[in-house]
Amino acid sequence: MTAKIISGKEVAQQIREELKKEVAEMKEKHGVVPGLVTILVGEDPASISYVTAKQKTSHELDFHSIQDNQPPDVSEEALLQLIDKYNNDPQIHGILVQLPLPKHIDEKKVLNAIDPDKDVDGFHPVNVGRLMIGGDEAKFLPCTPAGIQELIVRAGFETSGAEVVVVGRSNIVGKPIANIMLQKAAGANATVTIVHTRTKDMAAHCKRADILVVAAGVPDLVKPEWIKPGSCVIDVGVNRVGEKISEKTGKKIAILKGDVNFEAAKEIAGAITPVPGGVGPMTITMLMKNTVKAAKFANNIQ
Ligand code: NAP
Repeated sequence: MTAKIISGKEVAQQIREELKKEVAEMKEKHGVVPGLVTILVGEDPASISYVTAKQKTSHELDFHSIQDNQPPDVSEEALLQLIDKYNNDPQIHGILVQLPLPKHIDEKKVLNAIDPDKDVDGFHPVNVGRLMIGGDEAKFLPCTPAGIQELIVRAGFETSGAEVVVVGRSNIVGKPIANIMLQKAAGANATVTIVHTRTKDMAAHCKRADILVVAAGVPDLVKPEWIKPGSCVIDVGVNRVGEKISEKTGKKIAILKGDVNFEAAKEIAGAITPVPGGVGPMTITMLMKNTVKAAKFANNIQ
């Protein structure tokens, strides 16, 4: 059997088209335009490219977009004041501070200063708590885990009653995706297990998984024989395993590999995400989805 390849690029594009329609409707019926500010401190090339990609997508979706660049030596106090300004700006519904921040700034303090109702990244402790409680309380799901859920559901996998095994327990992927799949809600209702470095028999847990989500950051960690035939495998891992020359640009680019042996796993799984092109493209799209959601909440739009 050869697995269906779940293309994050295609699903992300589909969701962006849905969002574009939603944004046009909000503007026409309610005169509301979703507003997103991305705050960048310093000139780290990777951070610049992430922020540029976020801005590009928000422009494509006709958001009110602000790119706020701050010098590397901006003080913590000044950054907190900036966040306060955007917290009180009714045209801004989502605030994103690009990480990492310079060492002289307390990252936690800055992130926790964002109004939880504008925390479109979904990492503010209030939003983490809301997700734990679930139901109507869950406001913003963190972007990568929310993207994973979309991929599973849109690939046509039944989640209700499914055995979901998550490899990894980080706050940004493992714990939130486990929490999302556990919710008493559509696209969830699963029986969830989380495995990590102290798990005794990881293979045994993975073998039972109808849906296996792997977020460890270890290339080829999951062996083909751990995969249940016909299951859905979501490989979140992004591991740089070398460099090559891009055929398109002639420049050096990283060779990326996931946490699952893709070539072998695709002969056993029912569906699998590739790396790159699987989970990766979903993250920014879900940030946009959260911004639309935030604009709706702020304006009492159903
Ligand atoms: P992380 O914070 O390093 O957490 C990794 C988790 O995996 C930890 O809980 C760790 O267990 C577990 N783990 C590591 N090695 C293991 C092993 N040999 N056996 C069992 N468990 C093991 O990583 P993360 O931030 O969640 O990211 C995970 C991967 O996803 C990375 O490759 C990252 O680049 C990628 N990622 C991709 C996206 C995207 O595509 N948009 C977004 C986020 C992350 P312990 O807790 O016991 O140490």
